[in-house]
Amino acid sequence: MIHKEDIDKIFEAARVEEVVADYVTLKKRGVNLIGLCPFHDEKTPSFYVSPAKGIYKCFGCGKGGNPVNFLMEKEQMSYPEALRHLARKYNIEITEEEETPEQIQSNNDRESLFVVSSFAQKHFTENLSNSDEGKSIGLGYFKERGFREDIVQKFQLGYSINKRTAFTDAALAAGHKFEYLAKSGLAIDFNKDEEKPAEENEPAHPSSEKKYVDRFWGRVMFPVHNISGRVIAFGGRTLRTDKKVAKYINSPEMEIYHKSDVLYGIYFAKKEIIHSDNCFLVEGYTDVISMHQAGIENVVASSGTSLTVGQIKLIRRFSNNITILYDGDNAGIKASFRGIDLILEEGMNVKVLLFPDGEDPDSFSKRVSSEELKTFIKENSKDFISFKTSLLMGEVQNDPIKKAQLIKEIVESIALIPEAIYRSVYIKECSRIMDVQEEVLLNELNKIRRKKFNEKGIPASQPSPETPNIEELEEEKRETNTVNAEHQERDIIRLLINYGNKIMQVDSDDVDEDGKPIQLDISIAGLIIHELQHDDIKFENPLYKMVYDEFVSQLEKDNVPDYNFFTNHENTEICELTVDLVSSPYSLSNWEQHSIFIIKEEDILKTSLNNAVYALKSRKIEIMIHDIQKQLKENPPEEEMMTLMQTQYSLLQAKKEFNKLLGRIIVK
Ligand code: ATP
Ligand code: MN
Repeated sequence: MIHKEDIDKIFEAARVEEVVADYVTLKKRGVNLIGLCPFHDEKTPSFYVSPAKGIYKCFGCGKGGNPVNFLMEKEQMSYPEALRHLARKYNIEITEEEETPEQIQSNNDRESLFVVSSFAQKHFTENLSNSDEGKSIGLGYFKERGFREDIVQKFQLGYSINKRTAFTDAALAAGHKFEYLAKSGLAIDFNKDEEKPAEENEPAHPSSEKKYVDRFWGRVMFPVHNISGRVIAFGGRTLRTDKKVAKYINSPEMEIYHKSDVLYGIYFAKKEIIHSDNCFLVEGYTDVISMHQAGIENVVASSGTSLTVGQIKLIRRFSNNITILYDGDNAGIKASFRGIDLILEEGMNVKVLLFPDGEDPDSFSKRVSSEELKTFIKENSKDFISFKTSLLMGEVQNDPIKKAQLIKEIVESIALIPEAIYRSVYIKECSRIMDVQEEVLLNELNKIRRKKFNEKGIPASQPSPETPNIEELEEEKRETNTVNAEHQERDIIRLLINYGNKIMQVDSDDVDEDGKPIQLDISIAGLIIHELQHDDIKFENPLYKMVYDEFVSQLEKDNVPDYNFFTNHENTEICELTVDLVSSPYSLSNWEQHSIFIIKEEDILKTSLNNAVYALKSRKIEIMIHDIQKQLKENPPEEEMMTLMQTQYSLLQAKKEFNKLLGRIIVK
């Protein structure tokens, strides 16, 4: 349990723009920030963040909320977990009892996997810096590799003791459940796991009683962090030269670790990827770390797997530009072309860089100075299409059939690029390199794109539809709702949430000595509720009713909640509704830029207020009239009919009054 005061402190400290910026590149738009929505796939930003209101909102997919909701949605965290995460981020001490073994057990699966991973990281790091074996063997190895101490610490590198059950025994002793140690892959369960322990030349059972072994033992450890910096998996490198032993072994796939969506180093790189608007992609752990040490921090690795769409999308949240760094002797360059096509298809720009023969980013960055490395990268990065073209052209120079094949293949890559302007630039470039007429290439390009169009039904270059105009959507809704008060109820809730705690002066029924009405200060919420209760108006929509009732009960306690009370509400539906209601479409428009004067609702609040109250009452009357008419159609007995007609008449009168107040022209 996290104490209420601590929760308040966390909400006070958490800046929505900072929390979101850990995941999304945000650009300033007036007082707000906009970016590509992290919850759905889009190329035109429809995601906005309002620092003033403390909320985010996507006009494309509709997701919205406060910083806590954001983490819950994005990281699949539980409510307390999101709070804890924010507390860590903002250095807020929370009084929560240390986790006892019972509590550890009661945590849900995901959380338990995070907990054992974090425990393992601390355990391995502790081994590295404090055990004799770790210091001499593990730290010794890193030093020999030239890793500085601050870098070893930054990446939380560690060491697993050269005993078959050292880690699992320690984790069990600390109260961790075996179930999660096995699920995380840190322990290998002989009873269940099909897989053999990694080192096959070792006796499988260290002792007869034990039914498990550690996955990692006698290895230097590289923890893998997710985008928010939590440890989710490990890679372990053996220190033995024995060829039978796998050089690297890795955590298996599990609930918190899906290899295809993870990039090693992303947590440490994201800031610099945004800043430099480029991301370097390397092969593995040591390349990432060495580049950091050389002062290049916008670098990630896909570690063992070939690049996936999930990984590309992860990068695209921070930048549209990727530079792939290849080893000098990399035989896998051609094999990686498919991965690069995926990047092009995402509309991103790809550059490639070939290191000198026999060098990889790790070795090269150690041999030259940081400045030399940066210059080398700058001068040798080539755009992918030209790189692929020149690389393959060398091979097919004198073979016309192969050359035709190649031309087709390259044009296929170009055809994937969503923007026409880039396609045309590449066509020109390839025409030059391959010595083929531009027209021929263009013909081929169009053929491929037409085929794609027919297959997919949409041209790849079709611009993503503009964010729908909120008011249009509302209007549409209004028209379909002929006999309910959905829209009117919503409008009242919108006013309550946005302006409920503002104070207004109204005339009271009492008069002073001069016979003038005495002015009363009353909150807008108080006013609205007084008005609605007067006519016994009830809300139909259960969600609006909840918010309304909340206002009523808070007012009874002499407390007028503001929108933060609702954006921070534990009921997610209320939260989302509030965010919708306080996300004014004005803030997104570029009207301000064009200096078109907007009459702010606040300036005409009294009118808005009256209109909303009268509109709701008027609509409620319409519904009643509608009801009566339905009953009348069923030929009720004479007496009942008279009563119904009478009620109908007074309702129609009342409606007329309201409509006058609303200033509507009544055409009948
Ligand atoms: P060496 O000292 O022999 O160069 P290394 O530790 O640098 O060894 P390499 O064989 O050069 O390893 O591989 C480069 C990078 O590729 C490694 O740092 C590692 O991150 C990654 N890598 C290699 N094999 C694997 C694997 N099986 N799983 C995950 N990553 C791997
Ligand atoms: Mn290496």
